[in-house]
Amino acid sequence: MGEWRSASQVMRLSEPANSGLVNERVLFLVFEHVKWDIRTLCRVSAVSWKLRALAKRLLWRELCIHRAPRMIAALTEGATNSRIIGGWPALAKLLFFCGGCDSAAARQFRLSRPLRGHFAGESRFSKTSGRSFLARSCRGDVLYVSDPCEHAAEEGGSDVVGVYRGVFRSFFKSRTRERLIGKQIGFEEGVRCPYCAARVWSMTAARLIPQKTAARKLGSSGDGAVEYFVCLNGHLHGLCWLVHLSSDDGGGGDEEDEDDDGSFCSGDEDDGDRNYIARAS
Ligand SMILES: [Zn+2]
Ligand SMILES: [Zn+2]
Repeated sequence: MGEWRSASQVMRLSEPANSGLVNERVLFLVFEHVKWDIRTLCRVSAVSWKLRALAKRLLWRELCIHRAPRMIAALTEGATNSRIIGGWPALAKLLFFCGGCDSAAARQFRLSRPLRGHFAGESRFSKTSGRSFLARSCRGDVLYVSDPCEHAAEEGGSDVVGVYRGVFRSFFKSRTRERLIGKQIGFEEGVRCPYCAARVWSMTAARLIPQKTAARKLGSSGDGAVEYFVCLNGHLHGLCWLVHLSSDDGGGGDEEDEDDDGSFCSGDEDDGDRNYIARAS
């Protein structure tokens, strides 16, 4: 979280000092050169209000498109120059930042301390995985979910919490949203989306979590071990207890089915039919 926050603490330059930088073509070339590195964009957008506005209007979207092209094409249904629900900065943050968890936010997880958010070294988002998080009646929705990021539940303890995140395509038109509204589920008190700060629904409260399939997909330890929240803009964040793996197990999780069109996030283009990657570092 530190570096994400520190972006706003970067000293503002005076206008004459940076006016030459506010040139879209120049910035485009610079960011192509640094492979659309998210930390660089955080720093640049903190330099002045003009650069911040330019990033918000253009650069965050370009970063998402360059770093996770297929996932973005799927989420926008090919119209990548359009707006996206919740905004491009929030989606970029979701792609590259594990939000951790506020200890008071979880219903089923008694956490003795908050789990700190951080830039994710590498994240793998998958639409096939996302299907395991949809209630049977909502399987027509498109949801991308990341692999869980491992956090120690307490200092020096052996219990491991998995933190994961995801995003719906066209959430306003989704069956999941329709069911949440139909069931008249209220927003969760005291919990906000770590990506866009909007209010969230608890999918646990809504009884819309297919516990077994979601737990199996996450490599989690059984019934009641999975919970997640979905915000007004269709961003998902959640927790699970992870089975403690020996080093021999490799921590690879459930790999029984090869994904059709998942998305990794990494610096190197890893195309082919499988997935692509975007790395935050
Ligand atoms: Zn994490
Ligand atoms: Zn959100």
